[in-house]
Amino acid sequence: MALIVHKYGGTSMGSTERIRNVAKRVAKWVRAGHQLVVVPSAMSGETNRLLGLAKELFPGTPSDAVCRELDMLASTGEQVSVGLLSIALQAEGVPAVSFTGWQVPVRTDSAYTKARIESIADERVRGELAAGKVVVITGFQGIDDKGHITTLGRGGSDTSAVAVAAALKADECLIYTDVDGVYTTDPRVVPEARRLRSVSFEEMLEMASMGSKVLQIRSVEFAGKYHVPLRVLSSFTPWDIPIEEEARSGTLITFEEDEKMEQAIVSGIAFNRDEAKISILGVPDRPGIAFQILGAVADANIEVDVIIQNVSHEGKTDFSFTVHRNDYARTMEVLKTQVLPNLGTDRVEGDTRICKVSIVGIGMRSHGGIASKMFRALAEDGINIQMISTSEIKTSVVIDEKYMELAVRALHRAFELDQPPAPAQ
Ligand code: ADP
Ligand code: ASP
Ligand code: MG
Repeated sequence: MALIVHKYGGTSMGSTERIRNVAKRVAKWVRAGHQLVVVPSAMSGETNRLLGLAKELFPGTPSDAVCRELDMLASTGEQVSVGLLSIALQAEGVPAVSFTGWQVPVRTDSAYTKARIESIADERVRGELAAGKVVVITGFQGIDDKGHITTLGRGGSDTSAVAVAAALKADECLIYTDVDGVYTTDPRVVPEARRLRSVSFEEMLEMASMGSKVLQIRSVEFAGKYHVPLRVLSSFTPWDIPIEEEARSGTLITFEEDEKMEQAIVSGIAFNRDEAKISILGVPDRPGIAFQILGAVADANIEVDVIIQNVSHEGKTDFSFTVHRNDYARTMEVLKTQVLPNLGTDRVEGDTRICKVSIVGIGMRSHGGIASKMFRALAEDGINIQMISTSEIKTSVVIDEKYMELAVRALHRAFELDQPPAPAQ
């Protein structure tokens, strides 16, 4: 008997018919003798619908007090899902009980709309499992130390599932979604994308942080920190396929650099449309400037991504960085009210029509010339690069968003990602 955590995304929970299928699949695992904890997302479109209602009533940049209410509101989508799934399981003859984040409880910090999980109590869940029940826990939500409901950022149910698996020391966490695994890039953008049988934890971390929304980045961080065995697989296979076949399907996130693993130099391409670029022009080029600008942004709890500072001319320079598009308006406000008055410039420009495209692969560590191959492929398609950032295992470029799909396809072709990599020598 193993303790397994299943996570089902919005599309997989998209109708009562699909919820019934999820229940049948879970029932199959229970009948095979396993203990199951299931973490579903809200039904597809529901979180957007709820946040859309809020936007109608409060179109501006939400204050902290409004963000609190956004979490109160958005968390209800998952509450509906756990109730429905628990009912569907009972209709299948499987004893089940549902819990919200605050009932478990899943404790988080107080950063509304993007809270981080701090701890998960396991007594209540273990008690119900011992009583022979499937435990269904809301994804995406938690509670802070003052009892306020919080949510974990879009796509956060992945993180809930992996964190629950870590807290319970589960044998495996299976992320069921609407694709049958992790691909070389989003198969909706490049139909020739190839499913990876396995992907290393490090590569998955980069792919997720560079925008592959198949897994939320914090879920991969949790899996790495607590060594949670993690697999991404389809919820759209027939529910009654043999368990052994299902358990080997999809993509395994591996922690060892297995010799037999696929040895690609570039394993995947990620992209992210949710970025915005901000440039401050005519900044005095003196020590402490980067801290003066980015310190104020960080104090407002805004994460900064790609940063560049140009060569200075006559003691002045230009400083650019990117933030999440949702943080754009607030970043501009922080800069205009707290930073620019002390810098002696009021020249700030913003561009919300950019995107970031990244190539990722652990093979890049030991191979030169990969970035230049990337830049050549983009140049051949006439795509101008606005910013570049690199790490040991990825190279990212910021480009005009209208070229995003063209760039992803060009790079997929240039690195021949539709072909399986040659076996290691
Ligand atoms: P869920 O609702 O199950 O959490 P998501 O929509 O959050 O599903 O994530 C699954 C989607 O991620 C897929 O439908 C696919 O379009 C997208 N995706 C992006 N990059 C990749 C990738 N490299 N491999 C597979 N899917 C990807
Ligand atoms: N329902 C939330 C969202 O749409 C969380 C999730 O689906 O993972 O972002
Ligand atoms: Mg998701």
